Amino acid sequence: MTQSLSSRGNIIDGAAFAARLRERLAEHVASLRATTGKTPGLTVVIVGEDPASQVYVRMKGEQTQAIGMESRTIRLPDTTSEDELLALVDELNRDPAVNGILVQLPLPAHMSSLKVIDAINPDKDVDGFHVESVGRLSVGLPGLVSCTPLGCLMLLKDAAATYGDTLSGKNAVVVGRSNIVGKPMAQLLLAQDCTVTIAHSKTRDLKDLCLGADILVAAIGRKQFIKGDWVRDGAYVIDVGMNREMIDGKQKLFGDVEFDPARERALAITPVPKGVGPMTIACLLSNTVKAFCLQNGTAVPEGL
Ligand code: NAP
Repeated sequence: MTQSLSSRGNIIDGAAFAARLRERLAEHVASLRATTGKTPGLTVVIVGEDPASQVYVRMKGEQTQAIGMESRTIRLPDTTSEDELLALVDELNRDPAVNGILVQLPLPAHMSSLKVIDAINPDKDVDGFHVESVGRLSVGLPGLVSCTPLGCLMLLKDAAATYGDTLSGKNAVVVGRSNIVGKPMAQLLLAQDCTVTIAHSKTRDLKDLCLGADILVAAIGRKQFIKGDWVRDGAYVIDVGMNREMIDGKQKLFGDVEFDPARERALAITPVPKGVGPMTIACLLSNTVKAFCLQNGTAVPEGL
């Protein structure tokens, strides 16, 4: 249903969207199993004991299983050599039961993450970090796209559709130029016919730039850095930031945007938590289903 464009402060519920996406993916997995006799499979490799990475890897495994896909987690000690990891990646590349390979970052300091990612077969690169995946996105060829920006785009398109609106022709400002969020986000918005500006730590007059944004994406990693009065009236605001702080002995999560005042101006805005965060793993699952389809010559379900 098309709603009034004059309303403000609508929450973009990433957690609910991600749950609906996982439900759809579970249906796709079941029907792919029925038609091909095979089950899409994701293998996650983790090296070392980084506590945050352990949590992410556990969540990825649980959510992969929950939608009926094959899930395998390979845990290696941090004494593993780079050559041993590269040999494992090579083995996974050649294993037809493995449709998606994810090597959890960061890797221990004695390994080159660039070299390891480069060794992954781009057809199985469900993180979308391989240079071929990045190149495909950049020249508009189909391929696997980095999960967090892909999730942001899904939320933006859905929010716009709610208002009978589209992203085409809008001024988009992406604050942050990392390879995993800012740059692919900008490419995705460009592909939606937005006029895109990428801002970073050397950008001048950031407030004025943000005030010109119909779509504002914050991927900085600094708590509440984007102030409420930097947000244009009626803008769509996507807050990728995940900044953890201990408050009264409890860990709290903050975004890169000053949420309450920004919400007063924004047409729609993602909260932190329960905004972009849940979309990242959901899009990893989506990429694995897509990779399975491309590898098996099966049509990719719409919306993936
Ligand atoms: P990153 O690699 O550290 O990049 C941060 C970017 O912000 C850089 O391009 C940097 O500019 C820019 N920046 C830093 N200070 C700035 C300033 N004062 N003004 C303007 N730009 C500034 O971080 P990332 O990996 O992209 O992640 C960004 C945030 O998103 C983090 O909070 C991270 O935890 C979060 N994140 C969330 C998810 C999720 O699932 N929700 C996934 C990934 C990341 P320079 O390039 O000039 O240094």
